[in-house]
Amino acid sequence: MTLLDRGALPESIHMGEQQAVLKLYRQRRHITEAVAALEPYGVSSLVRERLVTILDEHDGRELYRFNPRLMATHLQLPEREMLGILVMGLKEGIFTLNWEIQCPICQSIDFRPKHLHDLQTLHTCPVCHSIHTTDADEQVRITFSLDERLRKLEPNTDDPDFRARMDRRYGVVSGHRMLTLQTFRDLFPRETLPPSESLQIRRVAILFTDLTGSTALYSRRGDARAFDLVRQHFNLLFQLVDENNGVVVKTIGDAVMGAFTNPADALQAAIAMHRKLAILNQDLALPPEDHLILKVGIDVGPCICVTLNDRPDYFGITVNTAARVQATSTGNAIAITDALVNDRSVADTLRDCTWQRRDLLLKGLDAPVMVHYIFPNAIDNSAQRVEPT
Ligand SMILES: [Zn+2]
Repeated sequence: MTLLDRGALPESIHMGEQQAVLKLYRQRRHITEAVAALEPYGVSSLVRERLVTILDEHDGRELYRFNPRLMATHLQLPEREMLGILVMGLKEGIFTLNWEIQCPICQSIDFRPKHLHDLQTLHTCPVCHSIHTTDADEQVRITFSLDERLRKLEPNTDDPDFRARMDRRYGVVSGHRMLTLQTFRDLFPRETLPPSESLQIRRVAILFTDLTGSTALYSRRGDARAFDLVRQHFNLLFQLVDENNGVVVKTIGDAVMGAFTNPADALQAAIAMHRKLAILNQDLALPPEDHLILKVGIDVGPCICVTLNDRPDYFGITVNTAARVQATSTGNAIAITDALVNDRSVADTLRDCTWQRRDLLLKGLDAPVMVHYIFPNAIDNSAQRVEPT
């Protein structure tokens, strides 16, 4: 690449070679220009430079239907950050996104879906013709390809054995992970499932929050001032959901519904919400009666993902339980279900918490639910304890 670095072509090289070098030079320039479009998104110059080198020089097999985790390894980035950059690149025409479905019967991969819109409740395998429900965790996986306008990849880059090796080494990124990526939601709000279709979600952590005493806050402070506080609380919560690998599904009044593929992330987000909101209360020098205090509830389990009001949404008993459990929480506590407490991913986090539990019959649910009220140690919850029954 030294010829290219100098930016000039020596006159002595053969005509054919000169054209080949020129082609490479143009390719490098196109890739550099395309990647520069990531700057306004806050992608650092170091990452952009490395990305240009990878896209220009790496083996084409690493750039066709590639596993995002392989790219994350090359760029030494956490998965969430890598997925965010790839989605920004998708927006800027650097990459294309592939929704692939692996058949649970014959394991072959259906490469036909190009958009979320191409996924359906039932999937028919093009190889063995078996019909199965489309499971966004286990069967749908996402890969990216370098846009062919930037670099024409050699025919041998379509190498299923190479991709299978990479998938075994790094593990695949599920379609569900993409649905819980805030950057994807923000940049592609119109990417949704067809209205009548749903995806099966094997496991998702659903988090609900609500503000305690917001009605009183509005009457004391007046609508404009109260809403200003509520807005600041929203900004904080949105940021913490995103930072903890989750997505804001929607807001309902002062309430926020979030979804996380990893239950530990949901619990971490909830703890951070309480801590950061306590700091915000101090920073705003609010009198105690106007403190923004959260009620949070989390459940983990299966559900379905559908499109409602033009955006992806979740439905099912896990969603209902999370909402009901949240409603039983008093301020500063995190109400969680047995399913979350028993999830191995949260064991370390729970070790630092104190908690109480209650067996409750919740509205709309048939059987009693064991609800655990978590009090992260750094939160001053002396005035907000739940009375054990
Ligand atoms: Zn099959």
